[in-house]
Amino acid sequence: MTGGFRAVYGRDPEGVWAAPGRVNLIGEHTDYNDGFVMPLALPQTCRVEASRRDDGVLRLHSSAAAGGVTEVRLDGLSPQGATGDRGGWAAYPAGVVWALREAGLQVGGADLHFESSVPTGAGLSSSAALEVATAVALDDLYGLGLRATRVAELCRRAENDFVGVPCGIMDQMASACCTAGHALYLDTRDLTQRQVPFDLAAQGLRLLVVDTRVKHALGDGAYAERRAGCEAGAAALGVRTLREVPIEELPAALDRLDARLRPLVRHVVTENERVAAAIRLLDAGETHAIGPVLSAGHASLRDDFGVSCAELDLAVDSANAAGALGARMTGGGFGGSAIVLVRAEAADEVSKAVDHAFAAAGHRAPRIFEAVPGAGAHRVRAS
Ligand code: ADP
Ligand code: MG
Repeated sequence: MTGGFRAVYGRDPEGVWAAPGRVNLIGEHTDYNDGFVMPLALPQTCRVEASRRDDGVLRLHSSAAAGGVTEVRLDGLSPQGATGDRGGWAAYPAGVVWALREAGLQVGGADLHFESSVPTGAGLSSSAALEVATAVALDDLYGLGLRATRVAELCRRAENDFVGVPCGIMDQMASACCTAGHALYLDTRDLTQRQVPFDLAAQGLRLLVVDTRVKHALGDGAYAERRAGCEAGAAALGVRTLREVPIEELPAALDRLDARLRPLVRHVVTENERVAAAIRLLDAGETHAIGPVLSAGHASLRDDFGVSCAELDLAVDSANAAGALGARMTGGGFGGSAIVLVRAEAADEVSKAVDHAFAAAGHRAPRIFEAVPGAGAHRVRAS
């Protein structure tokens, strides 16, 4: 899947790096509330071939984007759009270079060529894969010595402050820090983490991803609105973030909130508790038993947080009706993907049932594939 660099830039790259997309097992819309998440890396990655340049110029090319090579001067990079490409895809990697330099790191020019197998806009974090691939390539080429956690923080800064998307830290942490065969149990307050063995095959289980291939336009505004609601809820309760509300105090806390904020707060507090429940079950080797936890998480996102949609609900309901152990939307919502936990022997039947349900409802056919926890960002080869 490489070789594109030579065709674009007329020379060989100094190296090839890859960063994965992710699914989140449980812990949704908690990462901007200082809460807990548990993503795993997908085998699908964004690969970047890269070489340094010594003239202060950054050139960017993606096999997935029309419009050829984007060229920007490093000293002209600014979130105010001095590059003229704010809003376009090139803002993601350009924003990473900007964030690295803002942090005082000595990053010079580069030629970058991207080829990604992560579906874009499917809630599987193609944007974080693009950012993290850029960061690890430049880290290596310029000998920056960044730890994976720092890579994630700088990439999040790029997406928040340069691209202008107010995302939390989960996606970048997943792409930078996950390891094969594990889920990443992450406390987003201080970024402490634990690699949790997640060997589904050994337990006769499979995790399916159902990409609904829809992305409803209201998603962006709704995300900002939910975030603001969570902040208002925390303020009304006198805590810095909703993470600080213990589950035992939830009923009393809800009594103090107005009807608009109550369901948002209930989702975040119970979702943190579901992450805790899932981790207890995984640690006890009872992976199959997380199914109902996933389904309860979906109900909470649908009914309390209000970020599901007809296609996601259909994926979850049809999978569960066909014998899945549990299912939920994953990622921000309003389209994108759902995950389904199934016993291996039921996987085909459940996939077919979801396919049929989509056809019967007149929806576009979903893309269904298996998620085997893959590696976080890494160098693929020297050249
Ligand atoms: P998600 O991260 O869930 O896939 P986002 O909306 O956050 O969805 O990010 C998708 C955007 O990221 C695309 O619209 C595009 O601008 C950019 N992107 C991701 N991967 C690539 C790629 N390989 N080439 C060019 N742009 C990409
Ligand atoms: Mg994204």
